[in-house]
Amino acid sequence: ATPTAIMVGTGKAAELGILISGGDALEQARRITTVVLDKTGTLTRGRPDVTVVHPADGVDADRLLAYAAAAEIGSEHPLGEAIVRHARARDLAVPAADSFAAVPGHGVEAEVAGRRVLIGNPALLRRHGVDVAPLSGAAAEVAARGGTPVHVALDGRLAGVVGVADTVRPEAAEAVAQLRALGLDVWMLTGDNRVTAEVVAREVGIEQVIAEVRPEEKAGRVAALRERGAVVAMVGDGINDAPALAGADLGIAIGTGTDVAIAASDITLVGGDLRGIVSAIALSRRTVTTIK
Ligand code: ADP
Ligand code: MG
Repeated sequence: ATPTAIMVGTGKAAELGILISGGDALEQARRITTVVLDKTGTLTRGRPDVTVVHPADGVDADRLLAYAAAAEIGSEHPLGEAIVRHARARDLAVPAADSFAAVPGHGVEAEVAGRRVLIGNPALLRRHGVDVAPLSGAAAEVAARGGTPVHVALDGRLAGVVGVADTVRPEAAEAVAQLRALGLDVWMLTGDNRVTAEVVAREVGIEQVIAEVRPEEKAGRVAALRERGAVVAMVGDGINDAPALAGADLGIAIGTGTDVAIAASDITLVGGDLRGIVSAIALSRRTVTTIK
């Protein structure tokens, strides 16, 4: 495309709330064959809420929540923030944690009022020898509704499962349908568990799901698609997504997401409306064909 065509194209995009950094991005957008979307904060709003609390036998639900919230107070993860907000809304006394360590892609390890708290996915608890089987039914129920079962252990014993769920962005299904109508291959890429991921994918019309991916593996999954000949646009919002956004042929950040994701991307959807992906690709096709 000529510099003028690119200027016109990026100007039109800006009017639609799509910030495109440079002409290369517009040319890349035209070549895209495959769109990979992160789940949490990208296909969903990224502000999940606690929907259910399942304490283990003999554990009080409010005590479980208080320990869980205390462990998550230092967490920047949306799941952790949901649990802290919920405990505060219930006016629970949340003790300060004596120690806190985030385990990216897994959860949190903390010490609260002399007790060891583990909170996160089953892999984290199992790694510490905690048996999660007693609440597998409750966890499955949460996942079947598209929520994330957050497991909590106190002093090495399973203490409960907190169900946390996010709502899908209202325009997500329409955006996915439009991408497919443009002939693009659409994937979901997420660290969340497989069942939850597939329930959300079905809700938005995505058939190809890569789930339970650790943060450091996301970029590798994008690279694998590229090696198979795909020209990939990656869409994400989180710090976790930054390497995948940078490594894709085209990185598209949700404008309401983290600064790190925006910095790693070529395009930013200012208001976070996913239909902006469709507009950007359609516009790039028009921009390049007009000058041919
Ligand atoms: P996503 O790709 O969905 O944003 P992450 O890679 O951040 O997910 O985390 C993967 C999984 O690890 C989450 O679905 C959750 O089960 C668990 N997890 C990560 N951080 C936390 C946390 N602070 N509290 C509870 N669970 C967590
Ligand atoms: Mg995300």
